[in-house]
Amino acid sequence: MPDLDIMDRLLGGETLLLDGGTGSELQRRGADVLLGATDRLKAWSATANIEFADVVQQVHQDYLRVGADIIISNNFWTIPSRLEGIGLHDRWQEFAQAAGENAVTARQAGNPQAYVAGGIAAPCVGYSGDKPVSDVEYMGAVAFHKEYIDHSKLLAAMGVDVILVEYVGFIADCVAAVDAGAEAGIPVFLGVRHIGVDGAMQYGESLSDLAAALEGHPVSAVLLMCSHPEALSKGLPILRDAYTGPVGVYPNLGYNPTGPIVEQKMLTNQLPSEGRDVAQIRNYSPSRMAEFADEWKHMGAQIIGGCCASGPEHIMAMKTAVKG
Ligand SMILES: [Zn+2]
Repeated sequence: MPDLDIMDRLLGGETLLLDGGTGSELQRRGADVLLGATDRLKAWSATANIEFADVVQQVHQDYLRVGADIIISNNFWTIPSRLEGIGLHDRWQEFAQAAGENAVTARQAGNPQAYVAGGIAAPCVGYSGDKPVSDVEYMGAVAFHKEYIDHSKLLAAMGVDVILVEYVGFIADCVAAVDAGAEAGIPVFLGVRHIGVDGAMQYGESLSDLAAALEGHPVSAVLLMCSHPEALSKGLPILRDAYTGPVGVYPNLGYNPTGPIVEQKMLTNQLPSEGRDVAQIRNYSPSRMAEFADEWKHMGAQIIGGCCASGPEHIMAMKTAVKG
């Protein structure tokens, strides 16, 4: 366990370097992250935590080696509501535990002073016809809370330092996820997905309304994530003005998870696909990302890293801007 408390460092004004993408990096290194998937992600990289545990640990360790202060456990979609899509929901604890172990083991080997954020990604199962709707409204509060509470407690017991409820799209889900994650008794960070080019949330809700809705709820930091870098530059000042706690960003550089399977279907940063490549990073070179990191730090971000399609080369380049 690190000697210094992560919240003491953030509230003391320090800026921390977050890791980069894990699922996309696993895919880039040849691990199967699409078990049972066709044009949808199903449980994505959940099963890789057991089948490719060595690769998961290598990815974590590479991020630590280039200087990440925080790594996110690879729990992106070890929750039962996602594993159900491939018939493995009864085994969710095995996958969740393996992800926690991979991260905690890598931290111990790579840098015991680094923090592990236990990641819990939103279920994204709520639909009304083809239209996405809030998960907490779709699943019901009891089922939604239970999934987050069970996962948070499991990860906290394994020694993660914070719970990161991430990839959340609706304000109602953000509030419910934060409340449930806090049941584990450690700080909860929130990661809001798919910010638009206008700086609004994915379904048009505003970050100011999000900050107002979170007032009085147990959230220790709010991050914008899995959006393209320019969108984060729009959203971050809005969030900074509206929310008084630490804020952060981790962008999606252009990830096309199903590229090898189905062309142009699932580009997660919502920019147009340019073909079948898994990582479509266009102009987001490591040195360009260092410029973005500098801009975001000046905008007040205190946690800066990368999401889909970013790799250790990006985080290494961003380190000087973040820590310098
Ligand atoms: Zn992402």
